[in-house]
Amino acid sequence: MFEVVDEKYTSVTCNKCNWQIEKLGLGVREWTCNCGTVHDRDINAAINIRAVGTTGIAFGKTNILV
Ligand SMILES: [Zn+2]
Repeated sequence: MFEVVDEKYTSVTCNKCNWQIEKLGLGVREWTCNCGTVHDRDINAAINIRAVGTTGIAFGKTNILV
């Protein structure tokens, strides 16, 4: 069984607080969230994809449970 995950926002959404950075250039590997968490773009995306895939919850509708 698998879950289809919309990866559109996975690299720009904080995996701690769900805040989304407005713009993240393709060359930017790290960014800092409003909550102070420093994210590696790919690791953050992977955590978000896993969270959505395991909960079946889409972004913006509820908090991600990790
Ligand atoms: Zn955050």
